[in-house]
Amino acid sequence: MSYNLADLHTHSLCSDGLRTPTEAVEEACEAGLQAMSLTDHDTVQGVPEATAAGERMHMEVVPGTELSAHIRDREVHILAYCIDYQDDQLGTTLAKSFQARHQRGIAIVKALNSMGLTVSLDDVLSQANGSPLGRPHIAAAMVENGLVADRDEAFSRYIGDRGPAFRPKPYAAAQDLIALIHRTGGVAVLAHPSISLPESIIEQLVAYGLDGIEVFHPSHQPAQMEYYDQLADRYGLIKSGGSDSHGDSEGTRIGDYGVGYEVIEAMRERAATYA
Ligand code: AMP
Ligand code: ZN
Ligand code: FE
Ligand code: FE
Repeated sequence: MSYNLADLHTHSLCSDGLRTPTEAVEEACEAGLQAMSLTDHDTVQGVPEATAAGERMHMEVVPGTELSAHIRDREVHILAYCIDYQDDQLGTTLAKSFQARHQRGIAIVKALNSMGLTVSLDDVLSQANGSPLGRPHIAAAMVENGLVADRDEAFSRYIGDRGPAFRPKPYAAAQDLIALIHRTGGVAVLAHPSISLPESIIEQLVAYGLDGIEVFHPSHQPAQMEYYDQLADRYGLIKSGGSDSHGDSEGTRIGDYGVGYEVIEAMRERAATYA
């Protein structure tokens, strides 16, 4: 059992996770956490349900989301916390991103069809079930249609970052998203920087107002956690982390890679300077 621990990176059915927001909160309770944040990709749809579940179960739920952003020619994920999730401008940005994901899903389906693979937009949309369309939904539809044995094969053969049917999302600029997060009274945290991100990009994000960085994440080797810990000290960044759990049996569980509750306090302190 862990005390005073928080998991600040989790997903639900509202993006590409496999559990409801309520079930995510239940898992946080079972893990003995003090707090959690639901950080679905490019949506805050699950936040009200998670918050209500948190009130019932005495679990503190920090409003959050994980935004896809670009900086130079790269995609980065920026976690937003303590945001006013009902903010209109945030809603407009998320609606645009929903559309962009939909169009990109159409392009990926077309690419797969041109390779002779039978999967329709409807197959993919029924997997997403109203959530912002992501590659995991496409992978699930491919499994359902018997085109691949499992999700890993869908990614490794077709839709992974270097796959023949990969298409990028026309994501928003990191600078604009960080400014938007601050305008809604929240803090911006760089998710899983381990994915070969040069330090110059992190420096640029800091110049844009980045508040924190994920030091603790399942994709980080111990040496990388050490490296990002030192980097956070150097740039004055809050050291965050979480399981990035999607609720599948192979992945992490909520509570893994958790951080101390004082991380949330540091976020609130910083957020108060933007509100
Ligand atoms: P998207 O946001 O549509 O580009 O999809 C990215 C999501 O797909 C990530 O958040 C992961 O959940 C999942 N993903 C990315 N790469 C892989 C992979 N190689 N194998 C399995 N899942 C992956
Ligand atoms: Zn995901
Ligand atoms: Fe991510
Ligand atoms: Fe994530």
